[in-house]
Formats: sequence, C-alpha cells, structure tokens
Amino acid sequence: MPESLPERLLLGPGPSNAAPEVRAALAQPLIGHLDPAFLEVLDRVQRNLATLFRCRNGLTIPLSATGSAGMEACLVNLLEPGDVALIGVAGVFGSRMAEVARRCGARTVCVEVEMGQTIPPERMADAIRAERPSLVALVHAETSTGVAQPIAEVAREARSAGALMLADCVTSLSGMDVRLDDWGVDAAYSGTQKCLGCPPGLSPLALGPRAIERLNKRSRPVQSWYLDLGLIGDYFGQSRVYHHTAPVSMIFALDCALQRVLDEGLEARFERHREAHLRLVDGLEELGFEMLVPEGRRLPMLNTVVPPVPDEAALRRLLLDRHDIEVGGGLGSLAGRVWRIGLMGENARPEIVDRLLAALRQLL
Ligand SMILES: *Cc1c(COP(=O)(O)O)cnc(C)c1O
Repeated sequence: MPESLPERLLLGPGPSNAAPEVRAALAQPLIGHLDPAFLEVLDRVQRNLATLFRCRNGLTIPLSATGSAGMEACLVNLLEPGDVALIGVAGVFGSRMAEVARRCGARTVCVEVEMGQTIPPERMADAIRAERPSLVALVHAETSTGVAQPIAEVAREARSAGALMLADCVTSLSGMDVRLDDWGVDAAYSGTQKCLGCPPGLSPLALGPRAIERLNKRSRPVQSWYLDLGLIGDYFGQSRVYHHTAPVSMIFALDCALQRVLDEGLEARFERHREAHLRLVDGLEELGFEMLVPEGRRLPMLNTVVPPVPDEAALRRLLLDRHDIEVGGGLGSLAGRVWRIGLMGENARPEIVDRLLAALRQLL
C-alpha cells in the first residue's frame, strides 16, 4: 500500500467525497470488459444514466475520461470544419468550450458576459438569428462563477432555428434539474466527481436522436479516433465490439453511485442540495462573507463567496492544514478575490455545512 494520506473534506469545485460504498466498489474483483457479468453492469449504468439525463431515445454512455473529454467528444463529433458554432461564455468552462470548438475548425462565435453574470437568453436568440449556427452550446452550471445559466430558454431558440443544442452538465447533473428531452437539448456531458459523488475518471455523456443523426451524416471522419462516438457507440451499443478497454473498476464505482442517486430519488437529492446551500449562505453571511452572485441566480452546489480577510489564500491553507477541509480559490478574473465552496453529492448535508462553519468561526 502507498503512504497514508490525509482524510480531507472536499468542499471545493470537485472532486467531492465519495461514499464508502462507492469506494468499496472500486475494490471489487477485476473482470474483463467483455465479460457477460460486466456487460450486465454496463447495461444498468447506461439505463440509469438515461434516467438521470432524462434522455429517453438516445445513447447514454460513461465516456472513459474526465468531464473535459466529454466536452471535447461532443464538439469533435458534432462539428465539422467550416461549421458555425455559437457558444455562451460566462466563465472558464464556457471559454474552454469555445477553444475546443475553434480547434475543431468551426467558425466560433461567442456571446460573452462578465464572470458572475447570467447570459441573457435574448442575446443568444439574436446571435442565433444573425449567425445561423449549426450548433449552440452553453454551460448549465458554470463552476468558475457559481451562476446557473438558462439552458432551457436557449435550447428553445436553438431548436426553432434548426441548430443542435449542447449543454455542459458537469456540475449540474444530479444536483439540480436536468431534462434533455423536455428542454430540447440534443447532447450533454457530465463528470463523475461532482454531484454524482464518485471519483474523477468518467464522463457520463448523452446524445439525443438529432445529435445521432448529425453524427451519421458527417461528411468526413471525426479527427479524434479515441473520442469518435460512432466507433465508441459500437461498444456501448448492441454489438459490443472492442474499441478501447473500458475502465472496469470505475464503472463499478459509477454503478454504485448511480444506484445511490436513484435510491434517494432525484427530487429529494435536488432538495437536499438546495437546503444545504441555504444553510451555508446563512452561516457565511453571519461570519461576514459576501455572496458574489445575487439571489435567484446562485447554484446550490457551488457557492462563490468573498472572504472577510485580506489574504484569502492564507485562510484557505489554514482550513486545510488545521481542519482537513478543502475549499476552492477563484479562477480567471476572480482569482485571489473569491472562494468557491462546493456542496456536491455526499457533501450537501447540514452536518457538513456546520463542520465548515465551526472551523471558519474558530479561524476567524
Ligand atoms: C469540472 C468541470 C469541467 C471539467 O471536468 P474535468 O473532469 O475536470 O475534466 C467542465 N465543465 C464544468 C462546468 C466543470 O465544472
């Protein structure tokens, strides 16, 4: 065994702590990725992902890589050189999407707002009319700012203009409402290490019928062999043809994590995230922290706050060293100014919030 590591409470932007059952699932006996016993697990994982994404007639897969690979997979498969991509940029992850789209050779148009703001759906609608994009993309829960973005409204505009809608649900999936079919979202991806409460390593990904049709009608092969969803789909579809070796142990862990989500119930889980968030906001305001994001636009699972001290990094370090609690610093233009406190998955609980508040009270 390697050296003993500290037990941290992970209240940053991810990874979040996984339940003991999920960690134990990683240690199950290793079996082959074409073993019938494994394929049974894989079938269940894919079915449960369809339930979480609320995507009935599509393809749902646990992509073998982190959330950023889910982003890249959607963009390289749904864009061809010369296509027009319209991306809403309200933080670091929106910028990342735009960068990937540009690297696909797409003419990439951004509707940009300052970090901490919501993208007005009217601005996206105007840009859709002006640019006629083939793909519109938006981050649902922008983890760099803690702001929820209007996926359903933008999807409606994209649909009515005949564009595909892509949503980044890395932080939102299983922490707040995500409804691909009802909202008209054609493709979405997530990550295991945020509200799903699983270690990092897989990217749950969903493609609806219109995205699959676009994929099948491509005029040239996807430039990434590893992320070619046509090829990957042969393994995750009916034929189960070898493409790459599925990360068997991680899929066991995801299977366990998904089972926990469904046992709790999606609505109850969303409510648990909301309640933990409200408790945290109350306690932090009492301690002199200021919320960066106005009420009504805040994400429940990612709280961006301005600490009441001149040196935020020093306080963050004390929290880690003395209390084994990790919180995140700011990204991009918010670096050095804010903390990002994640209450994701297992950590969205009153006793966890109270543990953080007690530690802060002591340090301040
Ligand atoms: C964390 C995150 C990603 C990237 O996921 P990785 O697993 O770090 O690759 C993408 N988008 C959003 C919104 C995220 O929060």
